[in-house]
Amino acid sequence: MAEQARQQKVHITTFGCQMNEYDSSRLASLLASHGFVPAEDAESADLVLLNTCSVRERAEHKVYSYLGALRELKQRRPGLLIGVGGCVAQQEGKRLLDSVPYLDLVFGTQALERVPELIEEARAGRRVVCTPGEPMPVGLAGAHEADHPQLRPGLKAMVTVMTGCDNFCSYCVVPYVRGRERSRPASEVAREVAQLTAAGAREVTLLGQNVNSYRDPERGLDFAGLLEMLCREPELWRLRFTTSHPKDLSPALVEAMAGLDKVMEQLHLPAQSGSDRVLAAMKRGYTRRQYLERVADLRRRAPGVCLGGDIIVGFPGETEDDFAQSLSLLEEVGYDFLFSFMYSDRPFTKASKLPDKHLEAEKSRRLQRLQELQRGISLARHRALVGSVAEVLVEGPAKRGQGLMSGRERGGRVVNFEGKAELKGTLARVRVKEGLVNSLKGRLVGPAGGVEP
Ligand code: SF4
Repeated sequence: MAEQARQQKVHITTFGCQMNEYDSSRLASLLASHGFVPAEDAESADLVLLNTCSVRERAEHKVYSYLGALRELKQRRPGLLIGVGGCVAQQEGKRLLDSVPYLDLVFGTQALERVPELIEEARAGRRVVCTPGEPMPVGLAGAHEADHPQLRPGLKAMVTVMTGCDNFCSYCVVPYVRGRERSRPASEVAREVAQLTAAGAREVTLLGQNVNSYRDPERGLDFAGLLEMLCREPELWRLRFTTSHPKDLSPALVEAMAGLDKVMEQLHLPAQSGSDRVLAAMKRGYTRRQYLERVADLRRRAPGVCLGGDIIVGFPGETEDDFAQSLSLLEEVGYDFLFSFMYSDRPFTKASKLPDKHLEAEKSRRLQRLQELQRGISLARHRALVGSVAEVLVEGPAKRGQGLMSGRERGGRVVNFEGKAELKGTLARVRVKEGLVNSLKGRLVGPAGGVEP
């Protein structure tokens, strides 16, 4: 009897944002349909793929250092195929193949569906690049996305609703590596959400570079309309979304957050700076005052919303006074969580050509100062929740802390509490006992909707 061919193993490493994680899971699903099984590590794989990020310089460096570490593996096992996809691949294209001689394939952000055929080419000994300059027709992209949802979703899953960005903020590489905005048809998004909930997911996070500019290409539904439509999925308990551009935050979306019970009270609203001068140089399209008005309106209509922000420190020409305005914005807004970054030049961007760049040491000093301030703000906001009862989707044992279970409350904050393993996958009511910088601790009160003993 002929020996059965051994199944090919693929190992995918993901760098960067949730969008890349989502793409990687779709890629895994697509490759599974072509007979690949997951490998535990690169060492045991026949195919190693890197799904990369170039939004920050540091993330890009990580990709190159990971690739460097694979050189020795390829020398030992010349039959191993190595591929790079995602934003670095889109940005560098053939240059990547030229500079990494042991690389077999390079595929851009819009070429996921072509990876199986690229693998075949590489197997035949041809080194291949597929980084289409033009966005794929929406129908084609959508068909692929719907056909290859994530493998084995857990309790929580992600679904991309739109990709690309038309905003061209002066520091950002995304419009160049992800292309122009493209929304997926709402019917397709709904189908994927239904597939995920049928497989056990109860919380879905909708992803997009700017979900506020979502527009259903079939029926013209806006993002608030999409949320309303997805809330009709009976097995879906919770919906989150990210990211929202402040200039496009519509009253309809705020209304949806306030009025739809399945839409969680969590909003990521990146400001990037508290200084009008820097905001203008960043081409963000709003002033500090307009941003604060949006926040005030949001809190008026959806009180208790958990608000997150992004701040970049050390933008070219950012003065000490500009930086002080970013610090004061943190205090004025009172963010619950904050992502903060040091500015770094990104290829193609307008900001990379600006004068007055800061030294790394200065950016680092500003970042530390900002993060220190935010730690105090997060702590105070979490402590203010002590005594309240949170609805927690229980995800499993806490990462740290013996015997504790962990989950997230509606605002997205981590809540740890004493409880039995059987609670996993249920909604529980937990009274907050302690507020920490990054999480809450509490006591189990009962199931969500139950009566407090
Ligand atoms: S809104 Fe600005 S920062 Fe966000 S992805 Fe688009 S260009 Fe980049």
